[in-house]
Amino acid sequence: MADTIFKKIINKEIPAEIVFESDSILAFRDINPKAPTHILIIPKIEIPTVRELSGKEHGPLLGEMIDAANIIAKQEGISEDGFRLVINCGEKGGQEVYHLHMHLLGGRQMTWPAG
Ligand code: AMP
Repeated sequence: MADTIFKKIINKEIPAEIVFESDSILAFRDINPKAPTHILIIPKIEIPTVRELSGKEHGPLLGEMIDAANIIAKQEGISEDGFRLVINCGEKGGQEVYHLHMHLLGGRQMTWPAG
């Protein structure tokens, strides 16, 4: 199967504005931001969707993604005011890239329900 765009970013084959990196996680600015701060937090291992996740197997990885979100939110100066974390899953969930990613959105008032 062809590499996803995020796999190419992990492999540094295409550029991205990286804001956080660890052995297991990469985070970079969304190319089409939906808020003043819009960061994508992804695992370096290839997991297509939330459907392939289990708490037992991936709990530590998901914990690292949350830790990264908190670190980046502080870096971006949006931690105190608040922010939103979103994971879209599958077609009706609005997922476009089939490499698991968490959106970190902030810098404006979020509305609910999400569209
Ligand atoms: P989703 O709809 O949840 O799959 O989100 C995919 C996100 O990836 C969208 O918000 C896109 O704007 C973003 N995106 C697509 N290509 C790139 C890229 N090359 N660099 C950064 N963000 C991207």
